[in-house]
Amino acid sequence: MAASDASQTGPSLLLSSEQEMIRQTAHDFAQNEIAPIAAQFDETGEFPSETIRKMGELGLMGIEVPEEYGGAGMDTLAYVLALEEISKADAAHGAIMSVNNSLFCYGINRFGTEAQKQKYMRAVASGKSIGAYSLTEPMSGSDAGTMRSRAVRDGDFYVLNGRKSWVTSGPVADYIVVFIMTDPRKRHQGISAFIIETRQPGFAVGKKEPKLGIRASATSEIVFEGHRCPAANRLGQEGEGFKIAMTVLDAGRIGIASQALGIAEAAYEAAVLYAKEREAFGQKIGQFQGISFKLVDMKTRIEASRLLIYQAALAKERAKNTGQRFTLEAAMAKLFSAETAMFCAHAAVQIHGGMGYSKELPIERYFRDAKITEIYEGTSEIQRMVIARLETGLR
Ligand SMILES: Cc1cc2nc3c(=O)[nH]c(=O)nc-3n(C[C@H](O)[C@H](O)[C@H](O)COP(=O)(O)OP(=O)(O)OC[C@H]3O[C@@H](n4cnc5c(N)ncnc54)[C@H](O)[C@@H]3O)c2cc1C
Repeated sequence: MAASDASQTGPSLLLSSEQEMIRQTAHDFAQNEIAPIAAQFDETGEFPSETIRKMGELGLMGIEVPEEYGGAGMDTLAYVLALEEISKADAAHGAIMSVNNSLFCYGINRFGTEAQKQKYMRAVASGKSIGAYSLTEPMSGSDAGTMRSRAVRDGDFYVLNGRKSWVTSGPVADYIVVFIMTDPRKRHQGISAFIIETRQPGFAVGKKEPKLGIRASATSEIVFEGHRCPAANRLGQEGEGFKIAMTVLDAGRIGIASQALGIAEAAYEAAVLYAKEREAFGQKIGQFQGISFKLVDMKTRIEASRLLIYQAALAKERAKNTGQRFTLEAAMAKLFSAETAMFCAHAAVQIHGGMGYSKELPIERYFRDAKITEIYEGTSEIQRMVIARLETGLR
């Protein structure tokens, strides 16, 4: 059994030369510049500003954003290939990249005005600014309709008050797409979306979250106290926020699936190498069926994840012409890839024995990082709920 080289994995015959090129660019950057610093940034929890800036220069922060708005103008397959490579070196860099690309830029490209695209999407897609997405609140996670933050119209402005939680890149973001209640009586239909500028008064970064994994991706609460957001910064119509949030999450989930795939592959490749080197009872541990069958299950799930991700990426591409949703494909890709990442990281720790538990190797980091993919952008339970509803038509 040979752990595959990045450039050989998957049905690469399907890929165009442009897609191969971005994958190779992301692979080289990830292995040369991110992998060597990943452990240190995981340890300190410091935000990796320098490598993120360079990723912007390489066009990795707005891969699907049209070139006229500062992006790379590529397709979804190019995006997932690049995100997988970055996450394979470090899932925290993958999280930051995924938020900029799918949670911030995708929503503005899809629902924003020309002025919003020029001012906000251009800055984030080119990597000059950092974007974030804020739906969750302390008392409202999976059930967004219960959010308590409020935006009240005041002439040409909305006045925002409330506390949002778990904002990836919250402490460093220049701009955040925030979902906030404009009409609480309507629950989900009363949510609206706004693009807010974090340097304006009435905005503050709240408690920073100390985390199990993806520690170099800064996560915090954000607090609004009389923040005046221009009505021109509303994304979509009043009351359209929930629809926008869910549409954006469909795109985001394909990204998280790719992040999970990268973590799973890193864990698998390390496990294969170790199984071929480590000896016990006079033979390589990979010769024990108990170990080799684990490797087989890891590899098979990885390749199945890849195909689900490609299917979802192609569904999202088709949607650009047909306008059809790709909710089912995105949810299945995210659900299966996240559970594969967890499965592979768990197996990799076991195959490494004591060394899997040691900070000297990255295996324990893969294990800690994998868990988040089953939680954010909709937990695995929520993905199952989405898939069940779509398949049965029952609610
Ligand atoms: C590191 C990190 C980064 C994050 N980044 C962001 C971000 O950038 N922006 C943002 O808006 N949010 C972000 N989140 C929030 C994340 O999306 C939520 O944590 C997640 O959606 C779950 O919400 P919750 O934590 O409130 O859990 P809850 O909704 O309270 O769920 C608790 C448990 O109940 C289960 N559950 C809930 N409803 C059901 C149901 N109907 N059926 C079965 N089980 C159910 C859940 O699956 C879970 O197991 C982040 C979270 C973390 C940990």
